Amino acid sequence: MNGEAKSSLSGRAMRWAIALTEEKSVTGTGGEASFGPWLADELRREAAFRHAETWTIEVEPEDGRHCVAMLVRGTGRATIVLTGHYDTVTTRDYGDLEDLATQPQQLTQALRKTLAMAEAPAVRRARDDFASEEFLAGRGLLDMKAGLTAGLAVCAAFAESTNAAGNFLFIAVPDEENNSAGARKAAQVLTEIAGEHELDIFAAINLDAIADDGDGSKGRVIALGTVGKLLPTAHVVGVPAHSGFPLSGPNAATIAAAIAARVEWASELTDDSRSLPGTPPSLLSIRDGKSGYDVTTPAAAFATFNVLSYRRTPDEVLERFDRLCADAASACLAELKRRRHFQHGSAAIDLLETIPLHRYEAVLDRLDAEARSRLGAVGASLAAGDLPLPEQCRLVTD
Ligand SMILES: [Zn+2]
Repeated sequence: MNGEAKSSLSGRAMRWAIALTEEKSVTGTGGEASFGPWLADELRREAAFRHAETWTIEVEPEDGRHCVAMLVRGTGRATIVLTGHYDTVTTRDYGDLEDLATQPQQLTQALRKTLAMAEAPAVRRARDDFASEEFLAGRGLLDMKAGLTAGLAVCAAFAESTNAAGNFLFIAVPDEENNSAGARKAAQVLTEIAGEHELDIFAAINLDAIADDGDGSKGRVIALGTVGKLLPTAHVVGVPAHSGFPLSGPNAATIAAAIAARVEWASELTDDSRSLPGTPPSLLSIRDGKSGYDVTTPAAAFATFNVLSYRRTPDEVLERFDRLCADAASACLAELKRRRHFQHGSAAIDLLETIPLHRYEAVLDRLDAEARSRLGAVGASLAAGDLPLPEQCRLVTD
């Protein structure tokens, strides 16, 4: 590629990345809902895309959030899909600078000032990065509006070249930071789009950023393959006790905490690929089933984990997860028994010998038809609401 083409590629990418960042689109807000139609209009207005076909696809009827698709044709049927999400996480964590969170230039300047006096090593590194003028801050700029615009810049260069072989199908989706409703919708309609437009899709590139805690070079590669994600949850049922008599039964939240401590960063759930170390599991949420303060110990508690895998099947991951939960629960129970023995000798109240562990589907198998249909109705009504998926699962299990 010659110098001029290169500079128009990066110049465009930067200009569009800032414009997309300035259009705020935090997951679950009105900004996310209006972003799709806004982006489609912007693309239709770009001179480079005047021959491209751009349209929006609503995630569900009446949902309000849209995937944005743009087909840039060259010659033939071979097609590469370039895709990514346009929703972002919250801007709240910018604190006093929140108002500038989606104004990259102003935010970067303000951060330079804020960081000027700080001495912690990480902050100094950030300050040096900003001083180099090679970095821009902004909510959603890295994750992942810059990725989308890198793809758009390539589409524009492709659209402007003559007789280019192949086609690009660009698809931007909402809801990645939540339930991936946009990506799931896009996957659902992809075959239809390919059929209707006579395309042979032979590759898809997810334009999202790759985290790089080294010198930045890893962040510029295209990684092959996919990473699977599971969200296993331990729903712990204990025996609620008045806190004046805590030995009456095991505390669900204490057992959940033991499970959380056992699973966090566990090598047993870290799936290395042939060339890369895997990402260890981490606790995403832990809470008990109480709705307010009282002096009874929690009857139930829930711990939800992020588990990524390269090669393991969901069954393998769940088997490993089961084993860690069982280990942690029985170790916790043994320790509680030891403490109780020290304080009250052997005459105290009986505790369970072990804590039984069941998969959700095994519990489901034991239900009669009527109970199952009641549960189905609960699930359907929860699915129609806007609670996050883990919360829906918690309520169904409860
Ligand atoms: Zn992302």
